[in-house]
Amino acid sequence: MIELLPEKIKQHILNTVNNQFKKDPDRISVTEILYCLRKAYLRRINPKPIPLNQAWRIYIGTIIHRDLERLYDDEDKKFEIPIYNTGAVLVGKYDILDGDTIYELKVVDDNYDYFLSKNGPSKEYVEQLQFYMHNKKKKGKLAYLMHKKVKIIDVDSKDFDINKLLRRALILWEAIKEKKPPGKTLSKWQCKTCEYKEECMKLG
Ligand code: SF4
Repeated sequence: MIELLPEKIKQHILNTVNNQFKKDPDRISVTEILYCLRKAYLRRINPKPIPLNQAWRIYIGTIIHRDLERLYDDEDKKFEIPIYNTGAVLVGKYDILDGDTIYELKVVDDNYDYFLSKNGPSKEYVEQLQFYMHNKKKKGKLAYLMHKKVKIIDVDSKDFDINKLLRRALILWEAIKEKKPPGKTLSKWQCKTCEYKEECMKLG
């Protein structure tokens, strides 16, 4: 029960997590455009505080990332790709470069292993890693960090198309600029846990 933690700790967790999500309208993060663009838009124009339960999971991931990334002296892990001629940029930052391989760390629950064995890595995580591999010209592995085990999955970038991401970044950037929501996602599973269901329904 995270709620039972002292108020000071809960506040620290919430502040740490919520401060990560403040964004410049001319900088679109690659992680924003992997999922529903309407949700990404609503998160920009009407950000909601992240509930404590969700913040706790993000916080644990943040601590693990911070600690492991510290092992590598790497000043060159951020990318900025122009979104065509808009003046805006698509930005991203990989987690770890070890030798010739980028490791994208995913901190997940133990029961995620069942999903992984059945379905393989999600196409969104693969695309995110391919973006880094494309920019850095390196190999890539997804590293799923669970409580009881670690699973490493090789990713190749042969079917990667940077323009697919740039087009999505452009849609989101224009939507933010014009305050006009993009269309809904076709992946209905994303709607199940979406915090903007109500707003989305009103938009039609
Ligand atoms: S309810 Fe579904 S379509 Fe609407 S914003 Fe959320 S994820 Fe997107």
